[in-house]
Amino acid sequence: MLVVMKRGAKPAEIEAVVSGIEQKGYIARTIPGGERVAICVLHNEGPVDASPFLQLEAVKEVITVTRPYKLVSRESQGWDTIVEVGGVRIGNGCLTIIAGPCAIESENQALTTAQIVKDAGAQIFRGGAFKPRTSPYSFQGLGEEGLKILAKVRLETGMPVVTEAIDHEVFDLVEQYADIVQIGARNMQNFSLLRRAGKSRKPVILKRGMAATIEEWLMAAEYVMEGGNDKVILCERGVRTFAHHSRNTLDLSAIPVVRQESHLPVIVDPSHAAGFRDQVIPLSRAAVAVGCHGLMVEVHHAPETALSDGAQSLYPAQFADLCRQIEPIFSVYKSATNGCR
Ligand code: PEP
Ligand code: MN
Repeated sequence: MLVVMKRGAKPAEIEAVVSGIEQKGYIARTIPGGERVAICVLHNEGPVDASPFLQLEAVKEVITVTRPYKLVSRESQGWDTIVEVGGVRIGNGCLTIIAGPCAIESENQALTTAQIVKDAGAQIFRGGAFKPRTSPYSFQGLGEEGLKILAKVRLETGMPVVTEAIDHEVFDLVEQYADIVQIGARNMQNFSLLRRAGKSRKPVILKRGMAATIEEWLMAAEYVMEGGNDKVILCERGVRTFAHHSRNTLDLSAIPVVRQESHLPVIVDPSHAAGFRDQVIPLSRAAVAVGCHGLMVEVHHAPETALSDGAQSLYPAQFADLCRQIEPIFSVYKSATNGCR
């Protein structure tokens, strides 16, 4: 249930609603709006009696939230969330480009690739310091050394950096260095990790699990928001199907569905969806056309030497081409949709 306050409701009137909710043993979450404040009731099992709230002078209306992902849902927030990090915006009206190697391999590799992607048009740098690898014998990442290199990339290029926290143990460390913390596809339902991300002040990129429904994905985002972190960015990265012409199948239809269901920004990672670099540019064009708020692309200054995901990493010239190609598509998208979804 959502208690919507009248415009100009005073702090004491909002507090009266909050304590009324808490007296019933529920949790109240205030959602500040441009015009009106709303208070969402959490942890109620079954319907809540709205009548005590409707009697209050400062309450405009009470809305029943029908979705299980309450805070993530558009029912509790009609306007689009825009996540701002280091002067870069992710969300409605923007097309934010995140690019970089799969893994941080060395200072030279990271700085060289970062300068390349920045010059081509990327606004945020990506790179894994802790890598979730299928095989324990594969390169696992440089760990804290990789995080230090990411900090150097930020210092030298001015780009915010995103990197993955692969488990609860490394979250504190990752959080100290990263501007955005990534939760990977394999961890989408790692509930203790989601709860830890909920306590973080840093924005979180939450990748869709490779076998997750949209509802499961949004419920995972709800864990983070329920913990108190409302800076969640959803990332579609392909789901597992019978197809073997690509590593995963990019679920483009998820983008309009998520934008309809949720106010959170949603970006697309065409690299892990594709698995092969030749598919990355066409999938990026398509992702922009269906209305994603950004792309996260793997780029390596020398992909044939990459320690992970070389086959899907773009060459520098390909990434520049990608940025050039998506720009007019985004312009057409914006004018064709006229600010609507
Ligand atoms: C990544 O982005 O480095 C990654 C491992 O992606 P995913 O979790 O989508 O497989
Ligand atoms: Mn990768």
